[in-house]
Amino acid sequence: MIIKLNDTIPLKGKKFIFLDRDGTINVERNYLYEISKFEFEYKAVEGLISLASQDFNLIIITNQSGIGRGYYTIKDFTMLQSYIIRKCSSYGVEFLGYVACPHYKENCECRKPKDGMLRAIQERFEIDKEYSWIVGDKVSDTETGRSLGYQSCLLGTGHGKNNFEHKSDNTYFVKNLSEFANLVRKTNERLY
Ligand SMILES: [Zn+2]
Repeated sequence: MIIKLNDTIPLKGKKFIFLDRDGTINVERNYLYEISKFEFEYKAVEGLISLASQDFNLIIITNQSGIGRGYYTIKDFTMLQSYIIRKCSSYGVEFLGYVACPHYKENCECRKPKDGMLRAIQERFEIDKEYSWIVGDKVSDTETGRSLGYQSCLLGTGHGKNNFEHKSDNTYFVKNLSEFANLVRKTNERLY
């Protein structure tokens, strides 16, 4: 498991949002590692800015089996990852860090929908799960940590074009990250 946390980012309380990366923050490019091919998803920047302004700690949780498959290296991954974090920072969005599963065929505990990446973060921070969310474009994103008690939301971006059929009582569905940020705002107003 690859874990990178930025100690210089001040913690914003105990509310966390765990975001998938490919198809959620950036346009899905199947095993993306080239910075030149990086492109933000529709309304992703707006969504991230809103979530940051709502005082959430933001962490990227991403399956990167392209490393295990030999399509790109950990260094390729971390270089793109640093680029994304810098790019978001230029919009005023600071990520607390990221966690990645580099495995492919290994029977690991971190590849989503398994919850190893979430557990690793839980060991480091006190998290108020009732107010914290998992968001992504795949059911494997929302399934991860379902038993851990987070709120979850599927997006219509990336692989999410077919997600309407997976709409269920315990997972929300919205079109993009900006709509997700609105959903989070409304839900928090109701909870407080
Ligand atoms: Zn793994």
